[in-house]
Amino acid sequence: MGYDKVEIPPEGKSVTVLDEDADEFDVPETPIIPILYGDGIGTDVGPAAQSVLEAAAHATGRDVAWLRIYAGESAREKYDENLPADTVDAIREFRIGIKGPLTTPVGAGYRSLNVALRKRLDTYANVRPTYHLDGVPSPVSHPKKMDMVTFRENTEDVYAGIEWDHTDDDVERVREFIEDEMGYDDIIHDGPVGIGIKPITEFGTKRLVRKAIDYALERGRDTVTLVHKGNIMKFTEGQFRDWGYEVAEQEYGDEVITEDTLWEERDGDQPDNSVVVNDRIADNMLQQVLTRTENYDVLATMNLNGDYISDACGAQIGGLGIAPGANFGDALCLAEPVHGSAPKYAGQDKVNPTAMILSGVLLFEYMGWDDAASLARDAVEATIASKRVTYDLHRQIEGGEKLATSEFAAAVVENIETLS
Ligand code: NAD
Repeated sequence: MGYDKVEIPPEGKSVTVLDEDADEFDVPETPIIPILYGDGIGTDVGPAAQSVLEAAAHATGRDVAWLRIYAGESAREKYDENLPADTVDAIREFRIGIKGPLTTPVGAGYRSLNVALRKRLDTYANVRPTYHLDGVPSPVSHPKKMDMVTFRENTEDVYAGIEWDHTDDDVERVREFIEDEMGYDDIIHDGPVGIGIKPITEFGTKRLVRKAIDYALERGRDTVTLVHKGNIMKFTEGQFRDWGYEVAEQEYGDEVITEDTLWEERDGDQPDNSVVVNDRIADNMLQQVLTRTENYDVLATMNLNGDYISDACGAQIGGLGIAPGANFGDALCLAEPVHGSAPKYAGQDKVNPTAMILSGVLLFEYMGWDDAASLARDAVEATIASKRVTYDLHRQIEGGEKLATSEFAAAVVENIETLS
């Protein structure tokens, strides 16, 4: 393997995952899975998730060789750098991985390591499923109606990060260019200004929308909704919608139809095993996920919209302690929970590891280990349904038993043994 800045799994456990040039991957019985605990509560939820995932793998006749990788605080302590090249290389080589949260300083300091990692791995689709588990308290009356998967573009829009600080000399050059050369001289107020540019490319849009449609077809989902604010930002968000429809109309034949075709040519009769592509304006979509929840399946959207919408969906199914995610590239998956490093709870063995466990479930599904994935998910659900929960859910459940992070993980492992 030739790495210095990772922790190699025990002799005899490692198995190379795949040939470097392979497009699709062939998962061995004992794959190496790089794991990055991350900052703050990452050191609580990381080991907890690891024990559950390992138990689910064992119960389905497999094994996992974990490869500890580092970024953020742990990498600074061990290697005096934020993001060792070995971390990125290991995920690239093994094509799979799971990570906890990484802290990003607000305002000043280094830029987001999450963004750097996503860019360097070119994991262009941030995928966030939101579904309700029995027993999880919810602010809505029918949480089971929520079963959506958001595909959030991960490399452009606000993540492209082209911004100028109001104190930066360059911001005046950008202002002059906009006003003098481009002729928009009555838009920016006088005085200090911060300016940002958001690129939305045909390449970035089409590969994201393709990923969302492929997923919908593979997993038997009915619709893919393109979410945008194209009524105001016509040439970025509006163009995202148009390019998205181009993918739907030009690349899939009869398997994919637009909502217009569905109603104009088929009177609303959707063919079996097909996906309908439609679009909604982002602010309306934030209402729709509450009022017409059951009408939506897969959402495909740009970075910022995707962040807002998936958090709004996540709130309906139990919030940050529950919400899983994964970053997908071509033949590459790095799973990670939606939540951050919650520094005030770090190291207290207190927070909920469910989001990290369910992120591992997504990874297992990606690896084709659907039985291990379902087992882990069912065991989490059974544990929560029996009211054995961490503090975040405990305060909302009458008569529940409050467990530490590690105790919750142990209870899930017990349920894996009972269910298998
Ligand atoms: P956060 O998700 O870390 O925490 C917000 C609150 O949510 C916490 O105070 C806690 O009440 C709750 N919470 C989060 N995770 C929980 C869990 N597993 N169980 C129970 N409750 C949980 O968000 P923040 O405070 O906005 O961000 C803290 C840091 O994390 C920042 O530096 C931010 O940049 C970073 N962050 C990283 C990622 C990532 O690595 N992908 C994502 C979001 C935020």
